[in-house]
Amino acid sequence: ARASAISAPITDGALADGTPVPLLANLGNPDGAIEAVALGAEGVGLFRTEFLFLSSGSAPTIEQQQQSYTKLLAAFPGKKVVVRVLDAGADKPLPFLNDAHEENPALGLRGIRALRASEDILREQLTALAQADAATRSLPDGPADLWVMAPMIATVEETEYFTAIARDYGIRTAGVMVEVPSSALLADRILESADFASIGTNDLTQYTLAADRLLGSVASFQDPWHPAVLRLIREVGDAGRIHGKPVGICGEAAADPLLAVVLVGLGATSLSMAPTALADVRATLLQHSIDDARVIAGAALAANDAASARDAARAAAAQNS
Ligand code: PEP
Ligand code: MG
Repeated sequence: ARASAISAPITDGALADGTPVPLLANLGNPDGAIEAVALGAEGVGLFRTEFLFLSSGSAPTIEQQQQSYTKLLAAFPGKKVVVRVLDAGADKPLPFLNDAHEENPALGLRGIRALRASEDILREQLTALAQADAATRSLPDGPADLWVMAPMIATVEETEYFTAIARDYGIRTAGVMVEVPSSALLADRILESADFASIGTNDLTQYTLAADRLLGSVASFQDPWHPAVLRLIREVGDAGRIHGKPVGICGEAAADPLLAVVLVGLGATSLSMAPTALADVRATLLQHSIDDARVIAGAALAANDAASARDAARAAAAQNS
């Protein structure tokens, strides 16, 4: 029985009523693609590109980047692949992008802000992505569906800046990460120009609770079950529904099976996580319908703190599993 369970085909992510919830992989290197596919990833929801930049003291060439992106795209024919442009600064310092000393780097020149200050790096990255996209168009299994998004978007203006520059380079689907409370609160405006939003719950939690995600003494605040975080996610989910645009989740929260159900109940249309988390999330989603997920999310939203939100969701989920 065990052998047949292992060799049984992995089904696509879905709720009990059949509502599809694509389950995607977070990857930090194209080398992880094969394993992600084997674990049932239906595509890539977050490809972190920092690895290309962290290994040397200077930016990689367009050619080096193109090779990496081509390898990634070629592993996912016909599938969605969401690439995040460089997210430097704060927990990912890069001396050649920003060498100014900052007292509070998480609140400093990071993400899209750092890329705008060194726009050549952004332009080179978009060039390499467009080239990789073109290079994979003629593969026998067909191309991947390339989506590109920017990290740390805080304003509508940054959204317009990024989507315009990405489209200049031929990127067809350009979106933003929602990981700053301002962009969650303005998601309805942001989704007027962005093609999609992807919520980074790690940073969204850090910035909502004003607790450095790297600092052990405030680690207890770094809990995406906090109802304040859930309310912001609901804002984005509602905005996605109004505009008919996808809202993914790519922070660690999506890897918690019960929280994954809550996130779908709040309006997330896909979930991206470390590939090893896919199986548990897939199994838990299958136990609840979309109506159940909304009820479970409502129970969590009504709580006062993270621990009671988790308990309330668990109690609500027990009624339909
Ligand atoms: C996040 O902030 O949730 C996220 C996915 O980005 P990173 O963890 O790379 O900052
Ligand atoms: Mg982040």
